[in-house]
Amino acid sequence: MKNLEVTCPKCKKKFNYYSSAFRPFCTEKCRLIDLGQWLNESYTVPASKITVEEAEQLEQLLNEKEEPSDEEDSTH
Ligand SMILES: [Zn+2]
Repeated sequence: MKNLEVTCPKCKKKFNYYSSAFRPFCTEKCRLIDLGQWLNESYTVPASKITVEEAEQLEQLLNEKEEPSDEEDSTH
């Protein structure tokens, strides 16, 4: 059996990548926690694969949240 030691992105615990059915997470719990955060905070990009379209949508969300506040200064 292959043995590849990786670190769970959620709990930082080391485990054998090939022994987990929930990789890249060590357990279902970690995967569900991460999935829950992904759904609640749609701008938190999971480490695993997303499509190009999803990436573009996320970039738009991020850009909307980072609007410069220069206009506030001109009102003075
Ligand atoms: Zn974990």
